[in-house]
Amino acid sequence: MSTELNCEVLVVGGGISGLASAMLLHQAGKKVLLVESRGYLGGAIRTVEDSGYLLEMGPNSMMLGSDDPINGWLREVGLSEKLLKASPDSRNRYVWCRGKLFAVPLSLPSFLTTPLFSFREKVRVAQEFFIPPGSGLPEGSDETVGHFVRRRLGDGFLEKLIDPFVKGVYASHPDLLSVESAFPLLSKLEKENGSLIRGAIRLSRSQKRKSATLSGPPGGLYSFAGGLGEMIRAFSGYLKDESFIHAELVDWRRLSSGDFHCVLLQEEERIEVISKKMILATSPADAGRILEKNHPEIASVLSSIPMAPVAIAYVGVDREALPGYLPGFGVLFPTSEKRRILGVIQSSDLFPNRAPAGKVLLTIFAGGMLSPKIAMSFDEDFEEIVLGELKAVFGLKLKPDFFRIQRWAEAISQYSPGHALRVEKIRSLTPEGIALTGNYLGGISVSKTFTSGLDAGRSLLI
Ligand SMILES: Cc1cc2nc3c(=O)[nH]c(=O)nc-3n(C[C@H](O)[C@H](O)[C@H](O)COP(=O)(O)OP(=O)(O)OC[C@H]3O[C@@H](n4cnc5c(N)ncnc54)[C@H](O)[C@@H]3O)c2cc1C
Repeated sequence: MSTELNCEVLVVGGGISGLASAMLLHQAGKKVLLVESRGYLGGAIRTVEDSGYLLEMGPNSMMLGSDDPINGWLREVGLSEKLLKASPDSRNRYVWCRGKLFAVPLSLPSFLTTPLFSFREKVRVAQEFFIPPGSGLPEGSDETVGHFVRRRLGDGFLEKLIDPFVKGVYASHPDLLSVESAFPLLSKLEKENGSLIRGAIRLSRSQKRKSATLSGPPGGLYSFAGGLGEMIRAFSGYLKDESFIHAELVDWRRLSSGDFHCVLLQEEERIEVISKKMILATSPADAGRILEKNHPEIASVLSSIPMAPVAIAYVGVDREALPGYLPGFGVLFPTSEKRRILGVIQSSDLFPNRAPAGKVLLTIFAGGMLSPKIAMSFDEDFEEIVLGELKAVFGLKLKPDFFRIQRWAEAISQYSPGHALRVEKIRSLTPEGIALTGNYLGGISVSKTFTSGLDAGRSLLI
């Protein structure tokens, strides 16, 4: 059987970037068709209820700044009032070091008194004030995060704080990422202020002034009572029912008119779509696969962007079964500690209603660029690894009464050295009538990816 459809823009991929593109175009009065191969919208963002637990299969929360464009859209779909800020406890973050949990110092007094760093390491951090920007860097080099932090703040700061933080955000290692692309704010602070510390102080003062005058929510970590899935439901509801279709784009070609002839597969059914323009809102790997046949040059650049694989375990357990547990956001693990997991989010401490009364919900991340095999290990082996680590870190005493696994073979785009050049090349090679969006273009976070989706939609309005 075959069906034929027409639209002005075909958006391929129903993750947050594709939804943003589709909403913007829909608002502009365009006839949009959003095609998503999975049986649900949201892509990496998916909330699932299971046995009284509310599980986030991808992001647990999103960082919002007062001026993020997503705020306007949350208002548009009636969600601004429903935003939940992460609990005050979530300010407590821990790193596992020398067999113990240490609170991450978040203020000058706590940095001066923390036993996490030696006196020598603290003095080395203070010397940052006096290190000239870019000192000792070859002209035009794309410095790694590891090199940058070692150069400015020293080995101890890198190993005990930045390395675990990079694991938590990118499932990666500081020596594998470009500081300019992965943490543009850090290189900007250095360039504009001559010192990261000086820059951070100025930034915090200016943000306080700015947030007093802006209408968005104050900066911080947010979700909703029903998890981030609530946002996906509201965004999907903004589009008309006929605007999306559950199918996979399997082939396309350009017609002599310049329009796209696209072939979608919905189980056995073949759907043909004639579209004037197309947005690819997928992972770089999927965009590469889609463009391979007609535009091999751009496809090879897209496919060269590495993606970290991640496995997630959800553990529900009595609070009493975790004697070493400290309330907070969670725990991260420096590479030097050689633990087998990347980090733990204490989900039930972040937002209410994540676990039944008296229970704790832990979300454990493993795998990543340094341990890809763990991400793909057998379920039984993975469970054994996770429970072993929880025993070591929190003193887990009982077998948990809830355990579930989620895997992402291509979870997080890696902004490795050369990323900015790759993006430049992608932009210059993007064929006419096509726009690309996704978490490899302007930041991997939910709100940055949303902005990238808006940009892609806007670029096709011109
Ligand atoms: C485990 C995990 C934890 C994260 N944690 C956080 C966090 O705490 N905070 C934060 O801000 N960000 C976090 N992120 C990052 C953020 O969630 C993602 O960067 C963002 O959601 C990606 O959105 P996207 O639209 O670019 O891609 P995706 O969400 O991957 O969506 C792309 C969609 O395209 C579809 N697709 C691909 N090919 C085709 C085709 N041929 N036809 C039809 N459909 C197709 C796919 O099925 C997919 O649904 C996390 C990501 C992961 C994976």
